[in-house]
Amino acid sequence: MNENDTERMLAFLKDHRYRPTDTPDRADLILINTCSIRDKAEQKVYSTAGRYKRLKRNNPELVIGISGCVAQQKGGELLKRMPYVDIVVGTHNIHRLTELLKRVREEKTQVVSTELYGSIESGEFPTPEVDGVKAYVSCMRGCDNYCTYCIVPYVRGREVSRPHRDVIEDIRRLADRGIKEVTLLGQNVNSYCGDVSFPELLRMVCRVDGIERVRFLTSHPKDISEELIYLFGEEEKLARSMHLPIQAGSDRVLERMKRRYTVKEYLKKVSLFRRLYRDVSISTDMIVGFPGETEEDFRETMEVVRTVGFDSIFSFKYSPRPGTEAATYTDQLPEDVKQRRLEELQATQREITIRRNRLLVGRRMKVLVEGESKLDRTELTGRTTCNRIVNFPGDKGLTGSMVDVTIRVAYANSLRGEL
Ligand code: SF4
Repeated sequence: MNENDTERMLAFLKDHRYRPTDTPDRADLILINTCSIRDKAEQKVYSTAGRYKRLKRNNPELVIGISGCVAQQKGGELLKRMPYVDIVVGTHNIHRLTELLKRVREEKTQVVSTELYGSIESGEFPTPEVDGVKAYVSCMRGCDNYCTYCIVPYVRGREVSRPHRDVIEDIRRLADRGIKEVTLLGQNVNSYCGDVSFPELLRMVCRVDGIERVRFLTSHPKDISEELIYLFGEEEKLARSMHLPIQAGSDRVLERMKRRYTVKEYLKKVSLFRRLYRDVSISTDMIVGFPGETEEDFRETMEVVRTVGFDSIFSFKYSPRPGTEAATYTDQLPEDVKQRRLEELQATQREITIRRNRLLVGRRMKVLVEGESKLDRTELTGRTTCNRIVNFPGDKGLTGSMVDVTIRVAYANSLRGEL
C-alpha cells in the first residue's frame, strides 16, 4: 500500500518536473513515506528525518515532508517534534502534494494536511508511474473492520471503492505501456463495493488486452466468497496464489482480535481452494504474542500452520498501537515470550516452505520474466503463477514474456530452473 502511495506521489510530482534521485544531498525535496503498523516502523521515521535535517544547512531551499500513516496519525505534532519538517501530508491528501509544496515555497511556511474524506475525488488516483512488467492499482481505500490490534482504519479512513471504469482505464493505460501483470490493491480488497462486485471487477481486468496475469491484495478471510474461489477456474489470467491473513490459529484469540471468522471457517475456504486447483499457493500473516495468548492458544496456531502448510508466512510479534482497543488490554505478554513464539513459528514455517518448494522440482511452469536477476546479471528472474521467484539462464530480450521453465532446484526463498 505504501509503495503504491509512493508511486502516486511520483506521478503527481512528475507533472511538476520533479524526478527521483538516489542522492539525497542533491534533492530539492525529500519525502519520508511512513508506516505506523508497528512501533518499530514509526520510530524509524524520527531517525530517518533526523539524518536529513543536516542537509538543510547546505541547502536552505530543501523541503522535507512526512507522508503516510504516521503523518496522518500525528499531524501537527510532527512539526513540534521536528521543526525542520516543512510538510505533513496525510493518507487522503496525496493528490494535494504539489499544491502544498507550492505554498511552502511561496509563503515560506510549514503546512499540515490530514483531513480524511468519505469519498474519492477525481484525479486522486493517477495511473501509477512504474517501470518493468508489473504494477499495483488501487481499487479502493480504507477499512471498516476495526480489528482490535490495527491502526489502519484510523489512519486510512473508512472503506471507499473507486468506480470500476476508472480502475479499468488505469489498467488499459498500463497495458499500453507494456505492463503484463497487475495487482489490484485494497486494504481489504475483496470487500470492494464499487458499481460492480469484486469478482466482476476481476473478470473485467482479466479481459484487458495485454494483461497476462492478475493478482489481488489483501483479502479478508470473512469476505472470500465461493464465487471468488470458483472464478480461479474460469479465468486463466488469475494467478493461482492467495494471500489470506489468518493472524492466529485460536478461536479465542481471533475473537479478541475481532477478526469475525473461526479457524474452522478459514480452513474450509483454504481446503476448497487447494482441492480445486493444482499448484495454488497460500500465504498468510500471523501475529504471535497477542494480549492474553496462552501457551495453548499458541499451540493451536502451530497446529494450523502444520495443517494448512502455508507456502509462506509474514509473521510478527504483537506490537501495541496507541489508539487501538488491544493496546488497552491489561494482559500484555512479556517480550521474551513473544520472541520465543515468533522464533518457533518461523523455524517451523521455514521447513514447510522448503518442503513445498521442493514439490515443484521437475515441473514445467509458466514464468513471467521480470528482467535480469539482481544477483547474477547473466540470469533472468520471474515469477510463477503461484508467486514463486524463479531464476534461470536466458536472454534479457525475454523480459515481459511468459516462458516455460523447468524447475531444477528449490531453495527457501526462490527456485532455480531452465528454459
Ligand atoms: S482488516 Fe486488515 S486493515 Fe482492516 S482493521 Fe483488520 S487488520 Fe487492519
